Amino acid sequence: MNIVIYNEGIHDKEEWMKNVYPQGIHGALSDILASPENSITVITLDNVGDITPELLARTDVMLWWGHAAHHLVPDSVSNTVTEAVQKGMGFVALHSAHMSKPLRQLLGTSCTLKWRDNDAERVWVTAPSHPIAAGLPEYFELPDEEMYGEYFDIPKPDDVVFMGWFNGGELFRSGVTFTRGLGKIFYFQPGHEAFPTYMNPNIRLIIKNAVKWAAPSKRLERLECPMSPAPGPVLK
Ligand code: ZN
Repeated sequence: MNIVIYNEGIHDKEEWMKNVYPQGIHGALSDILASPENSITVITLDNVGDITPELLARTDVMLWWGHAAHHLVPDSVSNTVTEAVQKGMGFVALHSAHMSKPLRQLLGTSCTLKWRDNDAERVWVTAPSHPIAAGLPEYFELPDEEMYGEYFDIPKPDDVVFMGWFNGGELFRSGVTFTRGLGKIFYFQPGHEAFPTYMNPNIRLIIKNAVKWAAPSKRLERLECPMSPAPGPVLK
């Protein structure tokens, strides 16, 4: 599978974060997906221009982690990602990528939510037969995660695979799927940069499952309205 991991890579350059993710969030995500069958391309804000239609035409699934620099991603890149998804590329938006340009463009809502600093989260599986939930227990806990709470302004998801419940009582649709064109989209909330969430075995399994699930079964070469064929014989 051809996988592109975009991580804006801003926090990753700060000293405090090296204790959490010495190789950056992109390094942790690459490590989760590393296998002889996968070819992984990592892109950060420094080379965001490398996200081209040509690259995405041969990409099966793209992962996106962004937080502080959504506004620095050019609109043209967001258009490129959106079009690639509509043609069939899978898209996995992680944590604060809820406010990323491509996800908001694909979903068409503000994607705003409530948030608070760290709290304990219990992640419940709410669609146990969904491929992204394969191999997971009924629920698992993250001792430290940023609280994201409802209302989460997203369109009605195809499936709510996970719900997060926080110690403060808040609830959140933590793992949701959508379809846009031929492309499958998964948004997944855990993954705050200050905590080693991507080292958690359940989280790692979810990300592997999500990438497998989002891989295209069919793709379009181009998005266009085909001309109507010549009319057939008139019905009598
Ligand atoms: Zn965060």
